[in-house]
Amino acid sequence: MAKKKFQLSFTPDLVNEPITYRMVKDYDLQINILRAEVNDVGGKMLIEMQGKPDMIKKAVEYLKASRVEVRELKAYVKKDEDRCTHCGMCISICPVDAMCMDPDTKMVSYLPEKCIACGTCIDACPPGAIAFKI
Ligand code: SF4
Ligand code: SF4
Repeated sequence: MAKKKFQLSFTPDLVNEPITYRMVKDYDLQINILRAEVNDVGGKMLIEMQGKPDMIKKAVEYLKASRVEVRELKAYVKKDEDRCTHCGMCISICPVDAMCMDPDTKMVSYLPEKCIACGTCIDACPPGAIAFKI
């Protein structure tokens, strides 16, 4: 089993199509939709796909053939290093320890492999240094 993170972008004419439903059904995948936004210019989703690696590959091919823009992500959020003051607020609030402080340098780092895209740190960060990749 493999797990991969993706950002999917849909044009307005695709937003109401059952594309993700077909993907789950036809490629035997578990899909976790972590964020979804729809507006006048289309829709975007942050998802995690879990399944056999060849099935994930086929599902991505299916999405692209359906005109969905697919971007594989290494992380769900980005931390602006110029804005971050290393105050540690995100560490205390993150439910899965995806933010950590180096005990020597006191610098705060983001651990994307642990992040579940809950968004709690985004609201909690005093200088607004964290944002979703959506
Ligand atoms: S809460 Fe914001 S400013 Fe504070 S350490 Fe986290 S990312 Fe940096
Ligand atoms: S989005 Fe949630 S899980 Fe990810 S780093 Fe922020 S608080 Fe932690």
